[in-house]
Formats: sequence, structure tokens, C-alpha cells
Amino acid sequence: MVGVFDLFRIGVGPSSSHTVGPMRAAGSFVQALADAGSIRDVASIEVELFGSLAATGRGHGTFTAILLGLEGQDPQTLMPEVAQSSLDRIESTGSIQLPGGSKVPLGVDDIRLFPKIVFDRHSNALRLTARDVNGSVMCAETYFSVGGGFVVREGEAVAGDDQDEECSLPYPFGTGAELIEVCEREEMSISAVMLANELATRSETEVRSGILQLWEVMQACAHSAMNRSGVLPGGLEVRRRAPDLRQRLEQQDEERNPRYWQEWVSLIALAVNEENATGGRVVTAPTNGAAGIIPAVLYYVANYAEDVAGGSQEVIDDAIVRFFLAAAAIGALIKEHASISGAEVGCQGEVGAAAAMAAAGLAEVLGGTPRQVENAAEIAMEHSLGLTCDPIGGLVQIPCIERNAIGAVKAISAGRMALWGDGIHHVSFDQVIATMRETGRDMSSKYKETATGGLAISVGVNVVEC
Ligand code: SF4
Repeated sequence: MVGVFDLFRIGVGPSSSHTVGPMRAAGSFVQALADAGSIRDVASIEVELFGSLAATGRGHGTFTAILLGLEGQDPQTLMPEVAQSSLDRIESTGSIQLPGGSKVPLGVDDIRLFPKIVFDRHSNALRLTARDVNGSVMCAETYFSVGGGFVVREGEAVAGDDQDEECSLPYPFGTGAELIEVCEREEMSISAVMLANELATRSETEVRSGILQLWEVMQACAHSAMNRSGVLPGGLEVRRRAPDLRQRLEQQDEERNPRYWQEWVSLIALAVNEENATGGRVVTAPTNGAAGIIPAVLYYVANYAEDVAGGSQEVIDDAIVRFFLAAAAIGALIKEHASISGAEVGCQGEVGAAAAMAAAGLAEVLGGTPRQVENAAEIAMEHSLGLTCDPIGGLVQIPCIERNAIGAVKAISAGRMALWGDGIHHVSFDQVIATMRETGRDMSSKYKETATGGLAISVGVNVVEC
């Protein structure tokens, strides 16, 4: 089963499928060459991108992510300033430095693009080919970046991480109905079931500290954006709004009146996504494009949720941990039965999935029963069905940044609405995920992260490539 640390990872912006995944694929490619003892013999590397990666890769930072991955950089540990200095060096020398190997001539303009070639397995495909000094192929691999930073190598059934550890879980579940059945049979909450399953691979201290570290990175990400003014990179000239909004709110809401919750929640979502658009350090939640929703709803939990806000640090930390665990249970079901990739099912798989996860996390923290938590996720996902992915200029800015703010408010409404009832509802979460998958299947490829439909073509832009 996909766990909490698969769905939430520290990475770099602006996209989990187009930046983090390709960087990890490139890293795994050079690692394989190093493991085979042949990295020193590599004289050239060819990079080919297909489908959505080729169509929107430039705006999504795919090209530079691959170059950094080939240099052995890991999105989990890469700091933005290191990335920038490496990219400056690559640009000035026209070559990359393979880890433990030689310098190989390769730059952004050498990457070959095939936007019209779409593989059956997934539309985010990349092929890497290493050659020796005689031009003979040493290694050639095709990878699919399937969303949320997950990568599948051609020939593999599942993402590499999913097959890392074979272990038996105390409370396995494959559907939302099974999850509720386990919770009710064992008289456990959804977060308690997820925690018990996580303990199959790590200690409780590791789970707790790992989750709190994710929360820390989320807060640092929002904080960083609130201190940066100007326009976002990429050429769209989108003005950063987070610093002004924070300043205005601090003046307007000195007493921290609860009636301003929506403004603060929206601010956090906007800030995280502005940082993501800058290529900053973010937590995929479950993707980068939708990275602002969960931090914004967590902010709501820490500052406005009854029985949590105003409590001790321990009370707040407990709530944060339970939120992550419940959200991960929902994210795992979406990933398993539909998709968290905008290139596969449109934005319903990114912002829709994040809203469903956040709604579930909130309902859990507010004391919801497993049925109410499932209902919260269902409401948020039901009202995200059909959401298309049409980023203007192929950049993760418009509509993505504002969409996260709207998604966070929707998640809070869904979480609270679920608590009004007793968890009995007409459409099950399993049915809504199946509907999301089918809707994504029927959706034209114009609306699946190719920037060839919707707002991406209705709004005339003149993006200066940078
Ligand atoms: S529209 Fe949604 S799915 Fe597409 S890039 Fe933006 S956030 Fe991601």
C-alpha cells in the first residue's frame, strides 16, 4: 500500500510529475550506470521527452530537472540555491557533470521533444540513452512519471517505490468500504489504522517526527513566499500576491478574529503555490501543483479548529499527525483506483485529490467517525469532478495558484459539512473515485496538462522563455 511518506515528499517546484518525477528518473538512470561500474565510460547522453512532458516541460521545469537528476541531485534534498548554481554552470559550460563520472556535453537545447507521441502507459514519458565514445548504446531506459513524483520504468508493473518493501500490514484495505469495515470492526479511527500500518516499516517516533518535519517544510515554504515580492518567473508576469495580502491581513486582523479564517487560509494556499511556481522547496501533497491545499487546511486546524487551536504544542502536533495519516489513507485510495496525475485525469486528480485528502484530515481532527471522514473526502472529490488541467503558457501559475486557495476553502466546507450528518450518504467514496477515473479517461488530451485547450488557448499570452 502507498503510505504517508510516499504521498508526502519534500521536493522542488513547480511540478511533481514534470519536475520531481523526471529528476528522480534521471537520478535512477545514472545510479544504474554507476552500479554497473560503467559511468566513467559514458561519452554522451540523449534525452527525449514525449507527450505532456514535451508539451509543457519547459514551463514545468522538466528540462532543468533532468539535467540536475543526471548530475545525481535528489529532489528531496536539493536546495534551490544549489540548483541555481548548478544550472548556471551547466549553461555556461554546455555540459553536465555525471556523479563519479566524466563531463558530458548536454544542455537544455539538446533535449529532443515529441509532444504528439503519447505512450499507452502514460502521457508523461521520457527516454534516456547513454553512449560510449564509439557511439555504442550502453544503457537505454524509458520512464513514466505517473504523478506525485512517482516514477515507473518501462517493464515495471508499479512505481519503483511501491515495490521497495514487501511487508504484511496489520490492517490492509483496498477500498474505502474495506477501510470503514476495518475501522468499525477494530473500533479504530482512520488515522489509527494508517498509523498501525505505517508501524510495519518504521517506529512511531519516526512516523511522528517525519510528519512534523513535513509540516515544518510546508510552513517554511509559505513563510518564504510571504517575504518575496515581484513577479513569478516564466514570462507570464504574474504578480506575487502573498506579501501584500499578509501585510493587509496583519493590519486588518490584529486580534486574530475567527471571521477572517478564509482570508488566512487562502493566503497560505497562494503563498505555497507561489513558492512552488518559483521552483522553491515544497512538499508534494499529493502533487506540487496542488501543494497549497493541505498546508492551508493544516493552518486552519492549528489556528481555528475547536479543541486544537489555542492548545499546547503537543495537542497541535497530535492533530497535525492525525490529519496527515487520515489524508494519506484517502490519497492512497485515489492513487490506487484512479490517478493523482493531471496528465492522466486532469486537475480533478491534483486539486480534487488534495481537497479530498484535506477534507478527510480535517474531519478526522474534528472528531469525525470513519464514515464521516470518508463522507468528507467524497464531498470534496464529488465537487471537483471534471476539473480540467489547462495551465496558461504551460506554467504552474494560472489557474493553479488561485485554484489551490479555492480548493482549500472547499475542503474545509466539505469536512465540516460531513460532520453535520451521520456519515450515511448516497454516493460512496469508492464510487466517486471510479467516476473520477472514468471522467479522466473520457477527457480530451487538450485538458490533460498539454496546454492545448481551455484557458491555455483562450487567453492570449506572449510568454518570453527564460
Ligand atoms: S491546472 Fe491543476 S493539474 Fe494542471 S498544472 Fe495546474 S494544478 Fe496541476
